[in-house]
Amino acid sequence: MSASDSPGAVRAARPSRRQFVADLLGASGLVRPFSRLRHALARDLVILAYHRVLDVADEDAFDFDLELVSASRAQFRAQMTLLRERYHPVRFADLAAALAGGPALPPRAVIVSFDDGYDDNHRFAFPILRELGVPAMFFVSTGHVDSGLPYAYDWLVHLLLCTRAARLEIAELGVDLELPASRTARRAIAADVLDRMKAVPASVQSAIVERLGVEWGMPRAQGHPDCRPLSWPQLREMHAGGMEVGSHGMWHNMLARLAPADMQAEVAGSRRAIADALGASCEVISYPVGGVDAYDAAVIAAARDAGFELGCSYVSGTNHLPPREPFALRRLPIERHMDAAWFAALVGMPEAFSYTSRRRIG
Ligand SMILES: [Zn+2]
Repeated sequence: MSASDSPGAVRAARPSRRQFVADLLGASGLVRPFSRLRHALARDLVILAYHRVLDVADEDAFDFDLELVSASRAQFRAQMTLLRERYHPVRFADLAAALAGGPALPPRAVIVSFDDGYDDNHRFAFPILRELGVPAMFFVSTGHVDSGLPYAYDWLVHLLLCTRAARLEIAELGVDLELPASRTARRAIAADVLDRMKAVPASVQSAIVERLGVEWGMPRAQGHPDCRPLSWPQLREMHAGGMEVGSHGMWHNMLARLAPADMQAEVAGSRRAIADALGASCEVISYPVGGVDAYDAAVIAAARDAGFELGCSYVSGTNHLPPREPFALRRLPIERHMDAAWFAALVGMPEAFSYTSRRRIG
């Protein structure tokens, strides 16, 4: 799940240059030959990272974190079509098999992955993936699948957007300010708060969200139509339809910010919950939040001990084959402001068109 860029300024400045060059390259017809040459030389693995696939008719009226919307349905269909035509979409299981001495991955291998497990993944992404024959991995936080509760970071954004309170005071983060009326300004404040949260223990993060919910009369409750986790029946259907399901912890806690015993319980418990629910083993974990402050050597050791074979970060980049760090795989975050030319350039020439997302949150 993503804490935010400061929406307006960063988004305006960041895409413009890449978008301009991507448009030029797209118009020139050079993306495809460049990308073929690049992928022939590099022979690496590209893993794309999505969160939500959703049509947001009115961004200003959307009551949750817009930065988690990776693509509209039309964008997603076009992106998957491009992967089908120009690349070889593969599964994490194919990567694990290759690492175990099985067949090597094909050239231009790409894996599609989703973090968090929003129910729009089932409603909107899964039908497109199934129709186009593109496999994908869904990393879910099993406590949320069990409970139906919204994700804490997204609920925090919701609280900040919708509260009638005049002030925001979070002593633990050194935040004390007047809440502006403008939603754009509130989204920027939410981004800043989420960024500050990354420095405090997971228990403090949860306590802040719960306290604000109670103080403002908006306790975190299941059932909001715009913020629902996937259910186990949906995941079983997706799994039976050829999709992979992996761990994103139990409660989307930053694993490196948990006490060691709690961290190990989240890692092992999430794997067990998925295996029990699907009747299949679960080999891959994506560390919640996923930046370099979200996982460390102890988290990786716990993942290995629990029986995982691969681990994904939210650090931007591609992966040498065989991966030098199979428990710190890099991914390319996909964001909703990337148009078709940019997406084609990003996957085709990731060195030039990817960037370290300010959010650093997966
Ligand atoms: Zn996440």
